[in-house]
Amino acid sequence: MLKRLLPKKSSKAQNRYSEREHGIKRQDISRQAIEVVDALKSHKHEAYIVGGSVRDLLMGLHPKDFDVATDARPEQITRILPRSRIIGRRFKIVHARAGRDLIEVTTFRGHHDKPTGRGGSHAQQSKSGLLVRDNVFGNLEEDAWRRDFTCNSLYYDPIDGTLIDYCGGLEDIRAGRLQTIGDPQERFREDPVRMLRAVRFEAKLGLKLDQDSREALRHNRQMIAEVAPARLFDEIIKILLTPYAELALEKLLNCGLFEQLFPATGEQLAQGDRTRRLLLAAMRNTEARLAEDKPVASFFLYALLLWPAVRAQFLALKHSGAAPQEIMDQAGNLVLDRQAGRILIPRRFTQPMQDMWRLQVRLENRQPGKASRTLREDKFRAGYDLLLLREESGEALGGLGQWWTDFQTQEGPSAEDEPSASDRPSGRKKRRRRRGAPSPAG
Ligand code: ATP
Ligand code: MG
Repeated sequence: MLKRLLPKKSSKAQNRYSEREHGIKRQDISRQAIEVVDALKSHKHEAYIVGGSVRDLLMGLHPKDFDVATDARPEQITRILPRSRIIGRRFKIVHARAGRDLIEVTTFRGHHDKPTGRGGSHAQQSKSGLLVRDNVFGNLEEDAWRRDFTCNSLYYDPIDGTLIDYCGGLEDIRAGRLQTIGDPQERFREDPVRMLRAVRFEAKLGLKLDQDSREALRHNRQMIAEVAPARLFDEIIKILLTPYAELALEKLLNCGLFEQLFPATGEQLAQGDRTRRLLLAAMRNTEARLAEDKPVASFFLYALLLWPAVRAQFLALKHSGAAPQEIMDQAGNLVLDRQAGRILIPRRFTQPMQDMWRLQVRLENRQPGKASRTLREDKFRAGYDLLLLREESGEALGGLGQWWTDFQTQEGPSAEDEPSASDRPSGRKKRRRRRGAPSPAG
């Protein structure tokens, strides 16, 4: 058992690189992160900058945040760093506030089947191999082998400028490889979110996942259903609310993870090209908005991802005799209920999603009085954007999108400037709506 967990490369493979060799400049590291490392070191602890920030710097990207790894235990960290607190149970980490930044500080992890000495283990694994708790602490080297990919297992000391690499991450980055640490099958089973992370890093960084991991991912894709639905909500946002959304979605579709995450939409994918076209058009739209610094809300993304399923459900219920808006609400509820088994979408998001779907019915009504009222609906912009995307993906709606574009110009825009501007629930903003704001049509 232990043999299997041991790293393929021996610890002699540890490499230390100087600034001249690795090229990371100290001035590119956030001052706050350096202060955190400094504070821990001045208390005789080991501390390094680690993870995505080191990887991003090596790849010439701007890190979005900085993570620190240390041999100090969570309780010790909170004593050393002011304004810090322990969060998480499954995986205890410390959030340290430094200036306006939030630095995530983690204690080195050890092997999860390592005895803790006091009886009982601080790690728990389910029958399928899923690691349900992982608070076994270890040393720097053990920590390096517990990380997910070699490119994420690089430790930078901002005080002396050394980069420490146990797993060959620097070489892999330079060769464009995304390499799972250890046996990919086992690592994906321990934590299936790593499969999503693989997709995300491929899309974001342009690295190529190694062949073994690719096969392990295909083989274990159903395991994603074992992940807590609440955890997946954010993971999807991290993959698809990004400047590389289209590529990431293509990858999710191609490796079969998408159908696991969104089974009802997955069924529609099998019915023809239109669903795929809609989803990809939505991702392009997200990318374009982000490129223009416009906000894209999570509810908007999820409403789109589920729309094909909601539409199918609506058509199935259509002849029930109820009013179309009611049927749309029913369809939405059914799809959301089913989806909750996989991804838990918080209520503050499901409400505006339902508003957007209901608007698909209301937008069909072009009578001037009704249309004016629809235009003043809180989520009009988001609903209208969905309508345009439906048309773009080949749904024949009789020029409805263009009609609404023209209608808004005539009426003078009254709806929210940004379709998906806010994740705030609908309703509250109604009274604050501005009239006469410039139309952001299209
Ligand atoms: P980004 O910040 O761009 O999302 P990241 O790699 O920094 O990427 P984080 O979620 O911030 O991702 O995690 C920080 C580091 O913690 C990772 O680089 C990796 O070393 C480790 N890590 C995160 N999630 C896992 C996981 N599920 N399994 C193993 N190691 C992980
Ligand atoms: Mg990070």
